[in-house]
Amino acid sequence: MQEKEQLAAYWRKTGIVKDESVLKAFLETPREKFILGQYANEAYSDYPLPIPAGQTISQPTTVMIMTEALELEPGQKVLEIGTGSGYQAAIISNIVGENGKVITTEIIPELAEFAGKNLKNAGIKNVRVIRSDGSLGCEAEAPYDRCIITAACPKVPPPLFKQLKNNGIIVAPVGSAWGQSMIKIRKKHGKLETENLGEFVFVPLKGAHGWV
Ligand code: SAH
Repeated sequence: MQEKEQLAAYWRKTGIVKDESVLKAFLETPREKFILGQYANEAYSDYPLPIPAGQTISQPTTVMIMTEALELEPGQKVLEIGTGSGYQAAIISNIVGENGKVITTEIIPELAEFAGKNLKNAGIKNVRVIRSDGSLGCEAEAPYDRCIITAACPKVPPPLFKQLKNNGIIVAPVGSAWGQSMIKIRKKHGKLETENLGEFVFVPLKGAHGWV
């Protein structure tokens, strides 16, 4: 078995990933097209890797846990804050399918460009990369069924709650700059239900509602 299939088999066996559509997205998405050439041999090693501008592409297991927590369905519109390599956006796009859409925001121009190229190279068409401060959300494309933040935030940026539909879900690492709890929030008739999915470490969120 190849490394990629081994990872998927491990997640299935341990129950880390239960949703088959998430495993299918992983198996169908070429992570090797979202990393720098010098790490080609490590595309399916289960750790984060450096990408340009001092940022990182998350560890595959983390991407899976966050994707599963989003409870994605075909046709949904999803907002991502922190495009980075574009890999997480690509995974989501596989599940929401051609009738769904991923809007992903990146604050570093070099990375917005890097991700755009990677997504094109992987033949992915239902992802729109926007170079902007995603801590403000993206009002122009709102409302969203789901929202994912892939950078460490001091708190969930308030604009995201406004731009989320009823029954929508936000998944975000919230805490200090050194360690965060992965929070899953469901918006139900104006009320927020919060669940903690465990401890993680992400690069910091910048911008209006990020770290100064
Ligand atoms: N999801 C990415 C990994 C993200 S790393 C992947 O799959 O590769 C976190 C990213 O968030 C970095 O690229 C960083 O530049 C970006 N970021 C930080 N603050 C941001 C903000 N306010 N708006 C948009 N992107 C931001």
